[in-house]
Amino acid sequence: MSEGATTDAKPQDVALVFVVDHASSFVPDMYDNLGLPPEVFATHVAIDIGAKQVAEGLVARLGGRAVCAKFSRLLIDPNRELWRKNLIPDVSDGIVIAGNQNLSESEKQARIDNFYTPFHQAVDDEINKLLAKGLKPLVVGVHSFTPEMGGEKRPWHIGFMWNDDDRLGLALACAFEQQGKAVGHNLPYGGDDLFHTMMSHGFKRGLLHTQIEVRQDLIGNEDDADHWAELIADALAPFVENPALLSQFEIE
Ligand SMILES: [Zn+2]
Repeated sequence: MSEGATTDAKPQDVALVFVVDHASSFVPDMYDNLGLPPEVFATHVAIDIGAKQVAEGLVARLGGRAVCAKFSRLLIDPNRELWRKNLIPDVSDGIVIAGNQNLSESEKQARIDNFYTPFHQAVDDEINKLLAKGLKPLVVGVHSFTPEMGGEKRPWHIGFMWNDDDRLGLALACAFEQQGKAVGHNLPYGGDDLFHTMMSHGFKRGLLHTQIEVRQDLIGNEDDADHWAELIADALAPFVENPALLSQFEIE
């Protein structure tokens, strides 16, 4: 499937919406880098390294649309419920986020109104467009995770997350296991947490969904990200063409 993957114009009217919550490290100038040194913005603390590139590679191969956040998770994290304490993190992976300390209610609300809500609205808009055309999109979150966290190595190449509906996640996990990859089932994160975007736009709308997590050292440059986009596209393609194939996977 690699031939012409980046040049062919694939149709957008494919029942597929990719969502990349942590696609960007951008923080507007007015926030003065949230008081952080610039190098932090090249790390996982600010962005899911490689995730946007993987999503773009998926769209190039399969069609559909990718909705990518245009702001850093350090400003506000779109994959958190509004009530979560770490919606706007005051500390991330041991780094104190100076610009997020003791925020006023009005500043919190401004970030919700200016960043969080428009992002979720953009996801809704793409899903609504497809539903209006009589298509039931698969909703796929694309993330990346660090090879190590808290001194623990994370051995998985890729992980799939689900909550009450495991169908798409389990199907893709099986496809990667058949290739001999180390696959996390609800690892490195569980679908009972850090799953807000998929619950909102997938589960609650009755749409097949999963959240994909790729280990970031495997997708740290364009070529590697494109390679993993191809692997994921190959695993996903049969279910895009025929979602009924997923009926063999049970809802837990
Ligand atoms: Zn992420």
